[in-house]
Amino acid sequence: MKQSVKLIAGNWKMNGLGASLDEVASLRRSLEEQPAACRVALCPPATLVERMAAAVKGSVIEVGGQDCRAETHGAFTGGVSAGMLKDAGATLVIVGHSERRQEFGESDRLVAAKAEAAVGAGLAPIVCVGETLEQREAGRAVEVVRDQVMNSLPRAVLAGDFAVAYEPVWAIGTGLTPTLDQIEEVHRAVRAAMIERLGLGSAAAPILYGGSVKPDNARDILAVPEVGGALVGGASLKASDFLPIIRAA
Ligand code: PEP
Repeated sequence: MKQSVKLIAGNWKMNGLGASLDEVASLRRSLEEQPAACRVALCPPATLVERMAAAVKGSVIEVGGQDCRAETHGAFTGGVSAGMLKDAGATLVIVGHSERRQEFGESDRLVAAKAEAAVGAGLAPIVCVGETLEQREAGRAVEVVRDQVMNSLPRAVLAGDFAVAYEPVWAIGTGLTPTLDQIEEVHRAVRAAMIERLGLGSAAAPILYGGSVKPDNARDILAVPEVGGALVGGASLKASDFLPIIRAA
C-alpha cells in the first residue's frame, strides 16, 4: 500500500443484512460523483462479502473480511479461510482485532499465522495492535504496542500489500480518543518497530488509526504524522457518516 495514499477502511463487525447494501450503493454513487482522494474499503460480516463485492464491482471500493483462519481448509466448524474470502471477492482482511484478541484469546503468534495465510491467499492483511486502558494508565502503551508489532507481523507481509492498524482498546466504540500527541507517539513507535522487524521494505505500508473515528475528529487525526488512514467501526455503517471521513483523508 502506498503511504502517500491514505486507506480508509470500515469494519462493520457483526452488523449488516442484505438491506444494508443500500448504504454501499449510496456510498458508491457519491464516490462516482466526486472521486475519493484515498483508498476506500469496507469489511462486512462474512455473509455479505460476496454480495458486497458484487455491489461495488467496477468502483474504487474494496471489500475485506474481518478475520480468517490460519489454515487453508479442514475440520474447523464455522471457520472461514483467507482463500474463501478471496474467492468471495475480498482483497483485504483484518487480523488481530482486539475484540478477537480479547474474546477468543488470540495471541500475537496466531495473528502472525493469520496474516501469513492472508498473504498466501493473495489478500492484504490489516494487522491490528493496541493497548488496554490498564496498560496505558501504567505507562506501558508504547511498550505493549511495540511488542505486538514485533510478534504479529510475519516477514511474508513484505511480499504484497499490508497495513498495521493502531487501535487503543479503550477507544474502540467508546467515543474516547487519545490526544493527537499520543496518537503520534504510538504511530512513530509502530513505524520504528516495523522497520526493526521487517526492514525499510515496510516503510511504505500505512499505519491506520482506529478507535472512535467520527466525521468531526477525522480531519485532525488523519493529519497526524505517520497516520496513513483510519479503521472505522460504528461510523462506517452509514454512508452519511463514512463519506465525510473519506473526504477528510
Ligand atoms: C473498530 O472496531 O475497529 C473500531 C475502530 O470501532 P469504532 O470506530 O466504533 O470505535
